[in-house]
Amino acid sequence: MTTKTATLLVDRSTSRCSNCGKGAFPQDSHHTRISGYSAKAPCGAKFVAIKSEHSLVTPDRLRGIRPDLPLA
Ligand SMILES: [Zn+2]
Repeated sequence: MTTKTATLLVDRSTSRCSNCGKGAFPQDSHHTRISGYSAKAPCGAKFVAIKSEHSLVTPDRLRGIRPDLPLA
C-alpha cells in the first residue's frame, strides 16, 4: 500500500484535502476523518503541506494551525 500525500487547503472556517477534495480537520496528520457531511470515505492521504484558500488566512495563521507543515 502506497501512502498518498495531500496539501491541507484552509479556508476561513473550513479546510479540505487536496487529494480528494473532501472536508478535513486541520489538526489531523492524515485524512482519516471528513468534516461535514459526506457519503464518501476520506482518502487517508498524509498531509505534507498547508495552503491558504482565502486571503484572510495568512501564512502566520497557517503556521499557528500546523507548525509542523511547510507552506505549499
Ligand atoms: Zn482526502
